[in-house]
Amino acid sequence: MTDEQLFLIVFFLFYIAESVFWISRNQVAFTGKIFQKYFLQYPDKYIGNEKGGLILANPLLPSRLVFIAESLPISMDDTAVCSVSTYSLNFSAESKNNQVRLVNWNDITSVNTIDNEIHINGQLFTKCSSSDSAEKWARIIQKIKSTQKPGRNSLIKKSIMDSFNADEIIKSRSSFSRISFPLRMLCNLLTAYVFIIAPLIIIQYGLMYTILNIFLLYVFFHLLTLITFIITKYKSKLRISKSDFITILIKVSLFPPALMHVNDYLSVKVMDRFHPLALGLELLPQNKFESMAKAWILKLKYPLNFKQLTKAQRNVIDNFNRMEIDHIKSILSKHEIDIKELIRPKLSDDPSLRSYCPRCHIEYAVEKGYCSDCNEIELVPWSAAKESSKDE
Ligand SMILES: [Zn+2]
Repeated sequence: MTDEQLFLIVFFLFYIAESVFWISRNQVAFTGKIFQKYFLQYPDKYIGNEKGGLILANPLLPSRLVFIAESLPISMDDTAVCSVSTYSLNFSAESKNNQVRLVNWNDITSVNTIDNEIHINGQLFTKCSSSDSAEKWARIIQKIKSTQKPGRNSLIKKSIMDSFNADEIIKSRSSFSRISFPLRMLCNLLTAYVFIIAPLIIIQYGLMYTILNIFLLYVFFHLLTLITFIITKYKSKLRISKSDFITILIKVSLFPPALMHVNDYLSVKVMDRFHPLALGLELLPQNKFESMAKAWILKLKYPLNFKQLTKAQRNVIDNFNRMEIDHIKSILSKHEIDIKELIRPKLSDDPSLRSYCPRCHIEYAVEKGYCSDCNEIELVPWSAAKESSKDE
């Protein structure tokens, strides 16, 4: 293998590494595939930790968009606000459960944020996935705190509804898609130049004679992409803090594999204020959206690590989940999807299977016990399920 080939292979590996993203456990990613179809990705179970995991975005075509959506990070009802939601509970280890905080609305004197942290009464309350998310939820907490008890539930419902705003989702997506088009095409061009065009020229005419021209042409594309990136960022009006933007700018200026994926740094910010299911409804094919919605509702109905919470914490999370499920139900019914039918476990014909897990619907040969996947979730005997389906 020649030095040039080795250089190209190492460069390609860096390029692939740049399409790997870290997302937190309460986020999901929608990565663009060919023909505008999107692919749903949860943070990887194994390559990650309790806080987050990796996803792979557009390794071969940097012009595809990647969006990230965040589930609701806290829980609220008209009595109190809790520092976790079902999603953070689902993935958290015991250490996280030790830190679950519950504050009554009447006990709140101050709410402020430091980076991605929300502080209540001067003490750390919870950490969000970004400073934007922390600011948004701190504003909501402040608003609800200054409202009397009878008005609180409608404000909480509104905060859930806002994260499902379909018109805003369509508007944000089409506007970013239009504004970022030149940048995405330049990313493709840069990638094609480095991995296809330049190697072909070198093979044809030899490195000695072409190196200067190839380098100068690369510098031209590099600068053009950088300038287009800065213009796209300002035109799209995305909320990226100054320090984050400068960090990205330095990285992509000095590291060409990162510059080829530079559009991803912007597109992950376009939809991060919306609920994952709202994005799923907009971006996924119907059958994929239905399985996403089914899993989502079952996770809300049967949260993990729930028993380790106090009764008051469980009540707040339960009440909040009910409001979220109600809203999801109304959205599904608008699209003629019956929530009851969607989450109904399918009765098995195999007589050796005698129970199922109500959370993940895995079937078991035993009649009583706990799901081996969901740990603390008690199995439901099929006989009981058949009886209750007769009653309906
Ligand atoms: Zn299960």
